[in-house]
Amino acid sequence: MKEFNEYFDTAMKFHGHKCPAMPMGLRAGLAAMKVLGVERSKDKELFVEAETGKGHAAGCFLDGIMTATGCTYGKSNIQKLYYSKMAFTLIDTKTGKAVRVSLKPEFFEKALSSPFVQERKKGVPPQDIPAVITDPLVERILGLPENEFLNISDVFQKEMKKGSANFEVKRCAKCGEAVFTDKLTTASDGRMLCIPCSEAGK
Ligand SMILES: [Zn+2]
Ligand SMILES: [Zn+2]
Repeated sequence: MKEFNEYFDTAMKFHGHKCPAMPMGLRAGLAAMKVLGVERSKDKELFVEAETGKGHAAGCFLDGIMTATGCTYGKSNIQKLYYSKMAFTLIDTKTGKAVRVSLKPEFFEKALSSPFVQERKKGVPPQDIPAVITDPLVERILGLPENEFLNISDVFQKEMKKGSANFEVKRCAKCGEAVFTDKLTTASDGRMLCIPCSEAGK
């Protein structure tokens, strides 16, 4: 996935609707990768610490970052810190090199007064906002020089705890479902139970 258009198409399909915040995240993610000189994460070569939260506008930003970096919830190489800031740190887990990227406050404040956000405030779902409103905003973000909307830190060192994957599953003695062994608990009668089954018995 080298070409920007390919990234954008993938991000659009993954995200589900056209909006200005997803492309902001896509470009911010690609900018961070360029600074570190890294490729999209195939496994856990990269890690993202996202400072976004939930229940605020423009959370779509993070879907753009995930698409660009390949840091995903499934691979567990992304963590949300819930600071409700439009910022994240990208870490190269092999070298410990990291960069923090955030949206410039003046840029983001202005984005929040866009006609797109006015429609969202009225309760219009993003996919129902007319293209005549959304498209020019998205086009503008796709063409904006990085220094007009991103604050990009110097590269710094950030050490990551190294984990290894668990490949072993056992069946829960109560529900019979397969569970990775790190989350099986031993009940008082010695049976191995999954978390919901062990809590149901309390
Ligand atoms: Zn969105
Ligand atoms: Zn169970």
